[in-house]
Amino acid sequence: MTLTPAECANIRWDVIVVGAGMGGATAGYELARRGRRVLFIEKGPFLHAAFGAAPAGLEATVVQPADGTGPLDRAGDERLAGGRWPHRFNARTNLGRLSFPGPVGCASGGSSTFYAAALERFAPADFSPRANFAQADGSTLPEHWPVSYSEIDPYYQRAEQLFRVRGSQDPLYQGGASVLLKPPGLSPRDQRLQEIFSRQGLHPYRVHVGCEFIDGCDGCPDGPCEKNCKRDAAWTCLIPALLQHDARLLPDCEVLRLEASADAIDAVICRQGEREWRFSGAAVVLAGGAFGTPALLLRSRSAEWPQGIGNQNDLVGRNLMFHGGDFIAVSPGEALDGAGAQKTLAINDFYAVGGDKLGTFQTLGVRLEIGQIMQYLRENAELSTAWWRWLLSPRPVWWRKLTSPFVRLGAMVYYYLFNFRDASVWVSILEDLPYHENRVYPHPDNAQELMIEYRYPDEMKRRVNLFRDQLRKVLGNRRLMILSHANKIDYPHVCGTCRFGDDPQVSVVNADNRVHGMTNLYVADASCFPSSGGTNPSLTIAALALRAAEKIDARLGDTRADAAPGRALQT
Ligand SMILES: Cc1cc2nc3c(=O)[nH]c(=O)nc-3n(C[C@H](O)[C@H](O)[C@H](O)COP(=O)(O)OP(=O)(O)OC[C@H]3O[C@@H](n4cnc5c(N)ncnc54)[C@H](O)[C@@H]3O)c2cc1C
Repeated sequence: MTLTPAECANIRWDVIVVGAGMGGATAGYELARRGRRVLFIEKGPFLHAAFGAAPAGLEATVVQPADGTGPLDRAGDERLAGGRWPHRFNARTNLGRLSFPGPVGCASGGSSTFYAAALERFAPADFSPRANFAQADGSTLPEHWPVSYSEIDPYYQRAEQLFRVRGSQDPLYQGGASVLLKPPGLSPRDQRLQEIFSRQGLHPYRVHVGCEFIDGCDGCPDGPCEKNCKRDAAWTCLIPALLQHDARLLPDCEVLRLEASADAIDAVICRQGEREWRFSGAAVVLAGGAFGTPALLLRSRSAEWPQGIGNQNDLVGRNLMFHGGDFIAVSPGEALDGAGAQKTLAINDFYAVGGDKLGTFQTLGVRLEIGQIMQYLRENAELSTAWWRWLLSPRPVWWRKLTSPFVRLGAMVYYYLFNFRDASVWVSILEDLPYHENRVYPHPDNAQELMIEYRYPDEMKRRVNLFRDQLRKVLGNRRLMILSHANKIDYPHVCGTCRFGDDPQVSVVNADNRVHGMTNLYVADASCFPSSGGTNPSLTIAALALRAAEKIDARLGDTRADAAPGRALQT
């Protein structure tokens, strides 16, 4: 039965999930699967419904504006129409002031619609983060996560099954065995790289990827997958929740604020088109991502909550973390065919080096382009003190344009003569540490835009350089081209802004992902991470979301208005 927003407003939902990304879609799916009446509210469009592979019957699960309420007018907003966050981010960093379009997804699947689908587990040591950083002065790193590795292990397994992760076991991994499907064969180029790494005493393995690798698949490393091949959160969780478990999706609808008493959420206020709606549910799960969730809590101010909901200790939006690292081209040293799967290999030999915690090194899933080498040459020139550096200098713009053909020629020498034509692009992912002063909050003059304050710490610079040195030491300079000389902040790997913990004085949500002091408000996205780990975050987000869903279901107990799963919704 198709519903309108007005009809949704008359339903007391078991669970309202704000945001249909990695955490929200996974938690909502699990709750719907358990027979809960779930409404997803997503700011962005239902992109997947328009794709060729979308199953029949989806339309009926989408809340339809039937009473004159139009969906958001996306004309002129190509970013939103394409599922990308439409508003600007303004960042004050010690690397300078920046203003840029939001680097995250805003659609069915959230950022996972654009992700490269590397679905790796955090190492057991990541769950006791302070012990890994002897010199974490000033950081708010906790001793332990409130959830131990052994507690999360079964949820990792479930997430791996759900997202149909492919790969091979990392021989260096010290936790439980991953549940993995067989990956496709390696290209001659990647076989060669695997041999080179092994010969250097490293331990390459097949990176864990949520991808079916159907014929002609390039892995969709940075864009939506229209064929249900890349296992993003929409194909994997949102659509099954809608089609098989009677959930509903209200797309193009932004949650503006929450109304709350001292200990419970009374209503979710949202806007679709020109109309505002007020919905209520027994539980509310926030999964707007580590930018969106704290922004929503901070916008939800009232006499009861003058600093924003859950923000009585000034912690919401703080401890903002990303990942640091580099894009690095790795050449096999000879002309070899690289056709086939691109997201193929990883090594964790540098996850921890001596007393330093670094991170993972994995294929990015994209081919090296001449333009990236040109950028590399220009950045090197900027850093160089040699007399010729001005020849390649990117500034001023007229000079950049004038010298472009020569720089292109130089790039082609690398590309063809030094065999970088056959290189693959890799990424190093380094743990970022939480600091109280690093934070996100709504722009004071324009609540749609977000402000970021972030200090790129010296200890991270040192670890990035150490990682580069380690790689150069084992692979040699001739095989490596560090494409990102400037300090790279991996904005899409954002986390930490509503950290979970046992102590309400230093955390926003408890070990069950419930906001301290609230009976029915949960956070099930990357915001809850108290540390950022040394690898991709999504599998951990999904595992924690499955766990949170179980806790929510248990707490709701028999409170469901209508016990039969798959029932028609009553208005
Ligand atoms: C290009 C790219 C490549 C990446 N590659 C990888 C990878 O290979 N492996 C990996 O693990 N991670 C990767 N990531 C990161 C990963 O996608 C994110 O860490 C993950 O999706 C975050 O999940 P989340 O649930 O916290 O938020 P998201 O998935 O971002 O979902 C948040 C959702 O909430 C919605 N929302 C926000 N506020 C509101 C509101 N007020 N009302 C209604 N809806 C709202 C947003 O529109 C969005 O859809 C990548 C990200 C990008 C962009």
